[in-house]
Amino acid sequence: NETLSRSLGRKIDFPGLVSSTGTPWHYLDSAATAQKPEAVIDAVTRALGADYATVHRGVYSRSAEMTLGYESARRRIAEFIGGTEDEIVFTRGATEAINLLAYSWPHKGRVLLSELEHHSNIVPWQLAGWQVDVCPLTEDGQIDLDAAETMLTREHEMVAFAHVSNVLGSVVDARRAADLAHAVGAKLLLDGCQAVPRLPVDMAALDCDFYAFSAHKLYGPTGIGALWGRADLLGAMPPWQGGGAMIDTVTFDNTTFAPAPQRFEAGTPAIVEAIGFAAACDYTTKIGLEAIHAHEAALVKQTRDALGAMNDVTLFGPENSAGIVSFLIDGIHPHDLGTILDEENVAIRAGHHCAQPLMAKLGVTATARASFGIYSDEEDVTALIRGIERTKRIFG
Ligand code: PMP
Repeated sequence: NETLSRSLGRKIDFPGLVSSTGTPWHYLDSAATAQKPEAVIDAVTRALGADYATVHRGVYSRSAEMTLGYESARRRIAEFIGGTEDEIVFTRGATEAINLLAYSWPHKGRVLLSELEHHSNIVPWQLAGWQVDVCPLTEDGQIDLDAAETMLTREHEMVAFAHVSNVLGSVVDARRAADLAHAVGAKLLLDGCQAVPRLPVDMAALDCDFYAFSAHKLYGPTGIGALWGRADLLGAMPPWQGGGAMIDTVTFDNTTFAPAPQRFEAGTPAIVEAIGFAAACDYTTKIGLEAIHAHEAALVKQTRDALGAMNDVTLFGPENSAGIVSFLIDGIHPHDLGTILDEENVAIRAGHHCAQPLMAKLGVTATARASFGIYSDEEDVTALIRGIERTKRIFG
């Protein structure tokens, strides 16, 4: 389809990728944060400029219009993941979404995590006083759901898995994870940070109970994300931060709270960011998540084939990883590789990727990671491989 062929692999829509010197920048760090399309930048500029006012309080028309824009953003974000607007709590990002759930869930019992989780799906549970159990991985770096089945007990309140791993790109079988959790009376949280930019995501099809994601990895602004939760579950959770906008009535003796999701949104919200977030959902929907997934899959294959042909490269994760390739080259530290690639205008990520337990499991301290987005193209991969060959020559 014409929209797709015009949008995928097209850098011109992304001012962050348009070079003023004519030298292309090969941005392969979209899993850390994605570049922003004009459509998002325009929506943010309008919201911050011509349309700007506060929401929910104004008796004047500009504020009433902004409130409509803000609440329409919530609705479009909900629709993007197949939910409804009363199920979307705005947060600062996925990290805050997981903290909210870990702190607000009424019974802090046992939670089953996996060995590949990002620190933001480990530390909040520890801090909030949960007893953490850890599901192992299969050989090729997928969450081992057979092991999860034997580990889960009636004491588990929660199962919390990355939908897509930010290091390995592996995709969990969410439907089966949901069935396993529900069979013991537990709830399933999926950390959807890396999934929403790369896969069609639908809450009904996944059958999870909570879903956390960040706008900035989905071509939207930083500083905003969401916790999607089943309305009955959110409705039964107490607030976790107090302030304006989350109350019904306040006296010094007794305060009552607004219904969810407002109950979890204390203070003046991130109005502009919410509008940019919705613009990002509209933009990716227009291109189509199926098409984005296929585009990234082709780039993953090109990268894995080229790296796999080198006899000094270790590849991590499954063949069909979603948009992300982690690897190591014998005798070259990922940081050195990243620094030399930068001289070639190739940007990759090197380090533990906020997944130290996974690094320990893999027996490494760091990996190099290339990750793709809508704008990535074959030339980015070619530049990466050329840069790796040059690095190997430098290291002799
Ligand atoms: N989970 C995963 C899988 C991630 O990749 C990230 C971001 N690297 C996060 C959680 C945290 O997201 P944020 O920093 O936007 O809150």
